[in-house]
Amino acid sequence: MKKKLLLLSAFVLLNIPFISHAECMHDWGDYRIIEAATCGESGEKERYCKLCNERESVIIPATNNHKWSDWVVTIQPGCVDSSGEEQRRCSSCGGTEERTIQPYPRHDWSEWTITEKSTCGDYGWMERVCKRCGEKDSDFAPLDPSNHVLSEWETVEDPTALYEGTQERSCDCGLICEERPIPKLKAKVKLSKSKISIKSGKSAKIRVKQKTRGDYIKKWKSSNKNIVSVTSSGKLKALKKGTATITVIMESNAKAKCKVTVK
Ligand SMILES: [Zn+2]
Ligand SMILES: [Zn+2]
Ligand SMILES: [Zn+2]
Ligand SMILES: [Zn+2]
Repeated sequence: MKKKLLLLSAFVLLNIPFISHAECMHDWGDYRIIEAATCGESGEKERYCKLCNERESVIIPATNNHKWSDWVVTIQPGCVDSSGEEQRRCSSCGGTEERTIQPYPRHDWSEWTITEKSTCGDYGWMERVCKRCGEKDSDFAPLDPSNHVLSEWETVEDPTALYEGTQERSCDCGLICEERPIPKLKAKVKLSKSKISIKSGKSAKIRVKQKTRGDYIKKWKSSNKNIVSVTSSGKLKALKKGTATITVIMESNAKAKCKVTVK
């Protein structure tokens, strides 16, 4: 019996396990940290059985207790469907985290710029540009009821020696029609003869050979009715020897003369 006790003491002193692991009820020591967990990475701790010396290790989960910086935009968001990105960094573990920045739901359009003017009847063209992404947009420009397209001037009434003519131009919309006068024609008149000689007592006829459109004879006049007379139709009658001048006066006031010598 004494011998047996001695043997047991020797086992305890030398700390030699004499009980197999499987049978041990384990009396665990305190945990000892091998590697401390950080915010980004897990650590590890271990403990030993005081009886059988078995080792047990446990993972210490990451604390996730990051010290984040403010978010910093790394990709600027664009319009409509081009999203951006921002990032923050843990000052403790150096880990980073990213998140999406939603795109702007609409373009930031400039005012419309007319590139082709509208008229009263035809649509023009206008453009605008996104101030953010530069995208271009274009559309028909609204009709401009005050911008008529006038035709070329067209003569509707020719001018004459006595009256002005008329020109017109209009827009297809039918709302506008402009009129302007064409000045009267410069009247001219020419007689069939510029001098004539007649025997006393005889008759002769002179006539207007050329006149301006619209003009007509107002009257015939003799400078000396004692030598030669003239009727309203231009018939001359030589009355007495001498010379006289026959003048035709037109309605326009154009005049032509014929020198008459009565023999
Ligand atoms: Zn044990
Ligand atoms: Zn961290
Ligand atoms: Zn845009
Ligand atoms: Zn018009």
